Amino acid sequence: MSYPNSLKILIESFKKFPGIGEKTAERLAFSVLDLDVKTIDQFSTGLQDAKNKIKRCKICNHITEEDICGICLDNSRNREILCIVEEPKSVIIFEKIGSYKGLYHVLDGLISPIDGKNPEDINIESLVKRINEENFKEIIIALRPSVEGETTALYITKILSGTNIPISKIAYGIPMGADMEYIDSMTLEMAFQGRTKIS
Ligand SMILES: [Zn+2]
Repeated sequence: MSYPNSLKILIESFKKFPGIGEKTAERLAFSVLDLDVKTIDQFSTGLQDAKNKIKRCKICNHITEEDICGICLDNSRNREILCIVEEPKSVIIFEKIGSYKGLYHVLDGLISPIDGKNPEDINIESLVKRINEENFKEIIIALRPSVEGETTALYITKILSGTNIPISKIAYGIPMGADMEYIDSMTLEMAFQGRTKIS
């Protein structure tokens, strides 16, 4: 027996989300039928608003509903430190931790020649322009620990080498409480590279 059309559309829609297969999509679609009207209204407005109202900050490229995001507008932040991240999600993670008080620049991707992603495909041009125009005294690169992340960090370091602004990279390594036996070799190598002097 096939599904009524409206339910079929709902299942197909849920399948568009990452990690959602046929079975999960069916389960989600059925649970929609059990939700009350108010929740459904909120959900559908949320979907529409997220798509229609969210745009990118003209300065840092983070997500915002205005032209300039709240972080760029916040004068209490340290405007001399810039943290370069891959995606808006990274900004949100750092903000949740709350210890970083500088500004951000969102690249929206990483350089990956295998996937045909070159420096001009991510927000590096706007980064260079910004660094030339503003007065940063320190740059922190906080990209995903991967071949692409390393390639991108290396490229950024190279093109900014003429600015004489100190550039650092966040340390990657072994998670707290981890069993050394289960750490992959790249993580272990990064941890060695990022070692700190204790005496
Ligand atoms: Zn911004």
